[in-house]
Amino acid sequence: MSSIAQVISAIRENPGITRPQIARMCKLSRPAVSMILRLLVEKGLVREDGTVKSNAVGRNPIKLKFNYDAFQIVGVDIGGTNLRGAILDLDGKVSQRRTESICPDDLLEQVSALIRALIEKTDTCLLGIGIGVAGTVDPASGTVFNAPALRKQNLNLAQALTRDLGLPVYVDNDVNLAAVGEHWRGAARGSKNSICISIGTGIGAGLILDGRLYRGSHNLAGEVGYFFYRDRLPEEPIYGFGDFELSAGGWGLRQRALEELEKGETVETLLHSLVEDGRSTLDAQTVVKAAMKGDVFANRLIQEASFKIGITVANVVSLLDLEAVVLTGGLMTSAAEWILPAVEEAIRYVALPEIRDKVSVRIGRLGEDAVLIGAAYQVQESELPLVIKKERG
Ligand code: ADP
Ligand code: MG
Repeated sequence: MSSIAQVISAIRENPGITRPQIARMCKLSRPAVSMILRLLVEKGLVREDGTVKSNAVGRNPIKLKFNYDAFQIVGVDIGGTNLRGAILDLDGKVSQRRTESICPDDLLEQVSALIRALIEKTDTCLLGIGIGVAGTVDPASGTVFNAPALRKQNLNLAQALTRDLGLPVYVDNDVNLAAVGEHWRGAARGSKNSICISIGTGIGAGLILDGRLYRGSHNLAGEVGYFFYRDRLPEEPIYGFGDFELSAGGWGLRQRALEELEKGETVETLLHSLVEDGRSTLDAQTVVKAAMKGDVFANRLIQEASFKIGITVANVVSLLDLEAVVLTGGLMTSAAEWILPAVEEAIRYVALPEIRDKVSVRIGRLGEDAVLIGAAYQVQESELPLVIKKERG
């Protein structure tokens, strides 16, 4: 960590800390601390807030506080079903929120319009835009390699949006950001090693190992959607959605329901009437709703999906010796009563025996905001050091 980052984190974690305390905590000289603080106060990031009464001779030390409202960040979550956006402060607090159904054919226009609508309503200086995309991403260039749920390949999102909006744009995988968000402000807070698995349109995961986001060798770590559980290989190599997500994610659940209904073997289900109304009304949400009403067919589909999710989590826990598993995403949230017990049972029966009692399975605490909050964290990690070093502004 740079000295500036050290000082910032000391003040964030200890509101009311003084200059001599910072010097001691960060093992920095007092002049070095004073110089950094001059910059932070000048940029409005730190405020002086009264003094500590002391009996020592000389001036009483000044208490310092981080100003979480100094800048705002735009967070965007581009999922296969939902597009979400918000304005967040430096503490990850959401002050505005917008949700729309995604339109993959007009993706750039839709995202750009959503960000404009959010920006219009804020008068605080914006630090940048952080975007999570449901797909594989190169964070260095802000390029989306492949997003099957959005039907996009090799799209340089950061370049297009920076040109359009004139702000720094950071692009990452959506579930990487959800993992960062849940680790910073949610269910994985304080855990050294955790995984965040999102069950939405598709299924993805973000890994926090040794307290940091683990990206892998090509920024592709966490793609559990490609796990494969069949007895033999498919006829063609898999592209697009992976096999596991196609059987247990929201899109896959819809497809499986449609296929089985079209075969006509299932006798009684509430879902028949929906399909007769036209295929478009049937989605994972309708399957979950039918199961909640006691529909046997819908219940079986969700149980089969939950079983595979359970096996996946148990396998990953044995591989990585994790403390916490955080489950999030639209389908997870609505079908938690099926998924959670299936995951706990799978861990109890098939994970490494020494780990079974040590790993804690939790539902995400940030709900639909997880990606947005992770985006706010990542943007400030990259942008605050740059802003502080700028001469003015
Ligand atoms: P994404 O991030 O891919 O857009 P979400 O995490 O928002 O996905 O979840 C959307 C998926 O979850 C869809 O497949 C949808 O049908 C399914 N789903 C099931 N139940 C619900 C629900 N109650 N609310 C929202 N989505 C739900
Ligand atoms: Mg999502």
